[in-house]
Amino acid sequence: MGATSPETGRRQALLRALPSIDELLLHEQVAPLGATVSRPLLVEACRSAVQHAREQILAGQHADFDPSSVSRFLSTLARPNLRPVINATGVVLHTNLGRAPLSARAVERIAEVARGYCNLELDLDEGERGSRYAHVVELLCRLTGAESALVVNNCAAATLLTLGALAQGKEVIVSRGELVEIGGGFRVPDVMRQSGCTLVEVGTTNRTRVADYDAAVTPDTGLLLKVHQSNFAVVGFTEAATTSELAALGRARGVPLFEDLGSGALIPLHGEGLTTEPTVRTVIDAGADVVAFSGDKLLGGPQAGVLVGRRAIIEKLAKHPLTRAVRIDKLTVAALEATLEHYRDGLADTEIPARAMLTTPAPLLEARAKVLSAAFTREQLQCRIVPTTSRVGGGSMPLAAPPSFAVAVVGVPAVALHDALRAGTPAVVARICDDELWFDVRCLTEADCHVVASRVAAVVRGAPC
Ligand SMILES: *Cc1c(COP(=O)(O)O)cnc(C)c1O
Repeated sequence: MGATSPETGRRQALLRALPSIDELLLHEQVAPLGATVSRPLLVEACRSAVQHAREQILAGQHADFDPSSVSRFLSTLARPNLRPVINATGVVLHTNLGRAPLSARAVERIAEVARGYCNLELDLDEGERGSRYAHVVELLCRLTGAESALVVNNCAAATLLTLGALAQGKEVIVSRGELVEIGGGFRVPDVMRQSGCTLVEVGTTNRTRVADYDAAVTPDTGLLLKVHQSNFAVVGFTEAATTSELAALGRARGVPLFEDLGSGALIPLHGEGLTTEPTVRTVIDAGADVVAFSGDKLLGGPQAGVLVGRRAIIEKLAKHPLTRAVRIDKLTVAALEATLEHYRDGLADTEIPARAMLTTPAPLLEARAKVLSAAFTREQLQCRIVPTTSRVGGGSMPLAAPPSFAVAVVGVPAVALHDALRAGTPAVVARICDDELWFDVRCLTEADCHVVASRVAAVVRGAPC
């Protein structure tokens, strides 16, 4: 006992030879890095490099410490965790990729307001306290035909707030066909429970009539709820009560109608392969008393939950304590106002990226695929253009299949290529199809096409990225 094996001796020698952080900071390959990054970050990169080397030695890898490894750790540490991604999936409102990209005007407006102070809650004409919602209420009313509006953090919060404020301790009648999970574990029955409402299910999964609701109304009924089937579709032998039937029932029985519209198109969206979404205005016109929809789905703006409807109801919602907990910030107000202006100006389909991408005609997509394919060819990569279908995403228009074009990279292992593209900068996310990596061009700019080609080329040639 006590004798040291040659293996252990070598290991200890290597561990002893590891530089101290102070030594490493002065190394000729490390010191110059301090010109572009902060000292704490450089120290952290040195620590990570030495720690990594120590683990390698203990795991039996016997190599001398390489000071140049510090710059590798530095580039990982220096890049933000939240960073841009090039979306070659063809899914336009991709929840994992941040849903709707904002218009140029919305981005500028955020920057203007973020840089300094703003009149978020100050009425500049009167010099009195104002409302943060006032900046968008008029536009929302004009665009939807509603009497009043309120905006909260997201549509899930809007639903939670509406149920809690209008029907806490009361019964809420909803069709069995609409007891949906919206995603991320947001399920209508759970939200009901959370809001202190009693769920009263009527009808069946495929067929519910207005008479079913009528039979379920009691003196304890607080709300009729209609949930838009945004992320799924029931086809075949189906029937559902319309908004106007339910609104008429609600008026006759003295119970308000709340419609959770989810994706919420402000104006019709006409594009090849798209399905029809009810616009918010049609639902308001049909008599819904309050309607909730997302800001970052088909509307194409920032994350938000918009509530529009009757003045008395919106006032009640605005006064509820939960509203303060789910209120929007100034950046959201700025981006939403700018996005709504595009609708006011009749420029939604050209200025709002999500709408522009969803309505891009197939010949334009094919031309873009040719740009991407030519960029791959210039990088000496083999590829072919393939027809495909994109997706709307974000739980909107589940049956829509807008025709698109993708470029498939040929002869490169798809999973390994995809892993490397995701991990590099800028990250690229695409779609694996039949063991090939497909780049759907719908959400790509021409500049993106060139970046994608050079990233793929770098990965294929084994260059560090
Ligand atoms: C997407 C959706 C929601 C949730 O919207 P968020 O803005 O993501 O919170 C709620 N209801 C319906 C019907 C939806 O489609």
